[in-house]
Amino acid sequence: MTAPTADLMDYDDVVAGFDPVMGLEVHVELGTRTKMFCGCPTAFGAEPNTQVCPVCIGLPGSLPVANAAAIESAIRIGLALNCSIRPSSQFARKNYFYPDQPKNYQISQYDEPIAYDGHLDVVLGDGTTWRVEIERAHMEEDTGKSLHIGGSGRIHGASHSLLDYNRAGVPLVEIVTRPIEGAGERAPEVARAYVTALRDLLRATGVSDVRMDQGSLRCDANVSLMRKDATEFGTRTETKNVNSLKSVEVAVRYEMRRQAAILAAGGEIVQETRHFHESDGTTSAGRRKETAEDYRYFPEPDLAPVRPDADWIESLRGTLPELPWVRRARIQSEWGVSDEVMRDLVNVGAVDLVIATVDAGASPEAARGWWVSFLAQQANTRGVELDGLAITPGQVAEIVALVDEGKLTTKLAQQVAVAVLDGEGEPAQIVADRGLEVVRDDSALQKAVDEALAANPDIAEKIRGGKVAAAGKIVGDVMKATRGQADPARVKELVIAACS
Ligand SMILES: [Zn+2]
Repeated sequence: MTAPTADLMDYDDVVAGFDPVMGLEVHVELGTRTKMFCGCPTAFGAEPNTQVCPVCIGLPGSLPVANAAAIESAIRIGLALNCSIRPSSQFARKNYFYPDQPKNYQISQYDEPIAYDGHLDVVLGDGTTWRVEIERAHMEEDTGKSLHIGGSGRIHGASHSLLDYNRAGVPLVEIVTRPIEGAGERAPEVARAYVTALRDLLRATGVSDVRMDQGSLRCDANVSLMRKDATEFGTRTETKNVNSLKSVEVAVRYEMRRQAAILAAGGEIVQETRHFHESDGTTSAGRRKETAEDYRYFPEPDLAPVRPDADWIESLRGTLPELPWVRRARIQSEWGVSDEVMRDLVNVGAVDLVIATVDAGASPEAARGWWVSFLAQQANTRGVELDGLAITPGQVAEIVALVDEGKLTTKLAQQVAVAVLDGEGEPAQIVADRGLEVVRDDSALQKAVDEALAANPDIAEKIRGGKVAAAGKIVGDVMKATRGQADPARVKELVIAACS
């Protein structure tokens, strides 16, 4: 695949000349056991086309029945986003032909979304709060998946395509923001912070596993630019299926720079969908964007309107969990940490992981230290989000316990963590397999200490003369000789004893 070429404007020049306007559409796959309008299971990763029935592959004469658990989740999402819940909302047919859409229409909601007019307050990196207005949250069904064989993996250039309808009919809620204006240079940050907060909220609500890497949370980012003196929005593009939090930020920034370069050169922005390329952070043109008229929406005649009564809505409101930011404030005071420390935790996406690690028995300090430094570095090198690392809070707590018990030094513990990340098994087993435990045998250590002193007679002399600080070099040599398996404090004691 050749990388799309586009001239990009320097970001500083973009924000000096233009105001970005964003609209974010997030699709969340609900974690219901069965699909939106039939009884097929929704589990991820099954053999293709094994979770289908006449309803979800659109056979003539089949009739949909709405999933009550999905409606319940949609209402809870609406309530968590401070939306009003519509007393009567109608499903609608969104008509378009696409091979992964077996009915030739998608059952969605159009002019009567179940939830509307809400907001989500998100916290930015510097601690300020940005309110994102929510226009609507509506229910719909997912499409199947096309797999293009040969070529680049896209339909163009493929030799043939395969279709998997397991996902067709899985319940979705689409959450649409109102235009986000006035964020200026912070627009990409606001976009990322919003999707992050939304993900945390949805996870806390328990409606979805919100796995961006498995597509259960997907973000489409609409971006347009206004010249500083303009009074109307510019033409927007919609970058589809941006599948990580970092990518949301990268995609918005890229579109701002690309569009600004075109506008500055006197060109026009084409209203179109764009593909995001994870590999280099660029976008490339997709299809020209349809308008609502193209979809010929009309009310779904096979489904009755959804009419949740007020008591049901209020009882669902009662099931909402402690919201993530409320919980964060509580945890912060329990741990007694500063705003800055808490913000760092939020920024690296470590709050829930640290809480879970503390719940698994680690001290808040140790849990925090592991996730924000060593494991954050590992996530960075491995190019994954922190919660995408192949280590669980329970395993981190186990490693912390091994350090606390004096069985591992910090260095050794980091080796164990890397081995867990590489899929070598459980911490205790790795320690046993590799013989990583701290050497407790003083006679073995004494031998290494004597050798190190003999090899550095001048340093040995200094220590004997009272310069205890010089012992550091000898301790380092002993740690090397024991492959990091000695307890440095004990080694230092032995060095000083040997020189007195
Ligand atoms: Zn089905």
